[in-house]
Amino acid sequence: MRLLLHICCAPCSTETITRLLSEHEVTGFFYNPNIHPREEYDLRRLELEKYADEQDLPLIVSDYDVERWTGLTRGLEAEPEGGRRCTVCFQMRLEKTAQTAAELGFDAFTTTLSISPHKNSAVINAVGAGVEREKGVLFLAEDFKKQEGFKKSVERSRRHGLRRQSYCGCVYSKKKRESK
Ligand code: SF4
Repeated sequence: MRLLLHICCAPCSTETITRLLSEHEVTGFFYNPNIHPREEYDLRRLELEKYADEQDLPLIVSDYDVERWTGLTRGLEAEPEGGRRCTVCFQMRLEKTAQTAAELGFDAFTTTLSISPHKNSAVINAVGAGVEREKGVLFLAEDFKKQEGFKKSVERSRRHGLRRQSYCGCVYSKKKRESK
C-alpha cells in the first residue's frame, strides 16, 4: 500500500518507519505548525530531513501555518497535555495529512504520534477514523507504543545520534516543562 506517514519528529519516526516499511511503500510527511518557537521547528525539521535522507525515505515537508494552529487552539491554552487542545492539534495535523494523501493519490495515511507514552492512542485513532470519513482516504489505526515501541525508538535514536527534544512541541507544553 502507498502510505503517507505523518511524522512529528525524527526520533519518533525511527521505529515507526521500520515497522511500516515491512508492509508498505512509505512516504514521510512533516506537518507540525504546533512546534514553538520557529527555531525549534527548524531544528526538528532539519533532523528529520537528515534522517530521511540516510534512510532513503521520501519526505514531504509542508507549511508552518502557525497562525491556523493558534486560532484553532484559542481558548484551550490552559488544557493539560492529553486534554482537548491535544485532540484539536491531532485533528489539524491529520486532516492536512489526509488531504495531501488524497491529492497525491496515496492509498492510506497514518501518524507516528501513537508511539509517545504521553499520547492516548485511542484518541489519536478516533480522530484518524473521523478524518478518514471526512476526506475519503483510509486511515491506518496503529498503536506504535506496543511491543516496546517507544523504548525501541529511543534506542534507535541513540544509535543514529538523533537529537531528542524535552517537550511535546507547543508553547504551552514548553512552559509546563520549564516550570518543572
Ligand atoms: S501538548 Fe503536544 S499534542 Fe498537545 S497541543 Fe501541545 S504540541 Fe499539540
